[in-house]
Amino acid sequence: MKNLRPIYLDHHATTPVDPRVFRGMEPYFCENFGNAASKSHLFGWKAEGAVEKAREQVAQSIQSSTKEIVWTSGATEANNLALIGIATAYQTKGDHLITCSTEHSSILDPCRYLQERGFKITTLPVNQEGMIDLDDLTKAFTKKTILVSLMAANNEVGTLHPTVEIGKITRKQGVLLHIDAAQGCGKIPVTVQSMGVDLLSLSAHKVYGPKGVGALYLRKGVRPLPLFYGGGHERGFRSGTLPVPLIVGMGEAFEIAGNEMETEARRLKRLRDQLFRGLTQRLEGVVLNGPPTTERLPGNLNVSFEGIDAEALMAGLPNIAVSSGAACTSAKAEPSHVLRAMGLSSERIKGSVRFGLGRFTTEEEIDHVIEKVVEKVQELRKKNPLLP
Ligand code: PMP
Repeated sequence: MKNLRPIYLDHHATTPVDPRVFRGMEPYFCENFGNAASKSHLFGWKAEGAVEKAREQVAQSIQSSTKEIVWTSGATEANNLALIGIATAYQTKGDHLITCSTEHSSILDPCRYLQERGFKITTLPVNQEGMIDLDDLTKAFTKKTILVSLMAANNEVGTLHPTVEIGKITRKQGVLLHIDAAQGCGKIPVTVQSMGVDLLSLSAHKVYGPKGVGALYLRKGVRPLPLFYGGGHERGFRSGTLPVPLIVGMGEAFEIAGNEMETEARRLKRLRDQLFRGLTQRLEGVVLNGPPTTERLPGNLNVSFEGIDAEALMAGLPNIAVSSGAACTSAKAEPSHVLRAMGLSSERIKGSVRFGLGRFTTEEEIDHVIEKVVEKVQELRKKNPLLP
């Protein structure tokens, strides 16, 4: 097989900017550089026009009103604004929040922050597939519950939470629902009406848009306290000069993802299944982590290779970009809290690899990855004295 350039299979970490998105952004750096808040001249009006077009594109993709979109620097900020902003704004109503153990650190860490300041947090457990039990959720409500925060799709094992069912439960309880859709949007249908969601976090760089921009959907009437104060941009929810080129990119990225979602999801599922089949047919001891491949994010595959240290496997395959649950995906070198919460043994976590396929992944690349991974796993297993 011919030598391919480095292969990127880490699309849950980030995605490349789609050239179509980049072309849309380009004029907003040097030419149309205005401040969208400058109301007195053409430069400002052009910038504002571009920001409002992007707001429409994002609103359309989640079927919300444009007035319900607040630009942020990404899903981390949107999650912080949702949790800390709602907790502090609604604290006279109650002090209890519900989340789950496999959420992203930008949910779990703000929850810890709130807990240290007197709020009560229920962290729901998950089963081996990373799924919460809806009965556990129903039982977790107290008279003081103000917010439930659960993710649409998990960034490590691709588990899809039943957001529509969850929305029915929170509405019945009269409690606000926040969904972190950083991994879900653009890949699976995410619409605010069908989910009955009150707050929804979005990120551009997971959907072939630029890094450093995201949004928080705020259902009409939902009013978190802002995280920072200043010029009162974004209806006072998020002060700060808007990053116009990034916002333009996010709008384009969401429009493209919405238009192409169905065909792209089918293509990614086919390639992901090809990868899983290739690995399991040619190697013993490859176990799937998380839900069955039919019920997870289309481009996600997370497997453990028995008797293998995933770090060594990755070091042996420098031209293939994947990530390991052993070292997690964050800046912290800790084993994945997601795989631990799913009850996986440390051996299995140590041998776990996350493959994240994306828009530009080709069949040829998948064949090459199967070839190389099989070769390297066999080589490493031969060196492992503990294996028969
Ligand atoms: N939530 C989830 C589920 C994520 O996967 C990520 C990114 N890893 C984030 C939130 C944070 O998004 P951002 O990088 O836009 O801050």
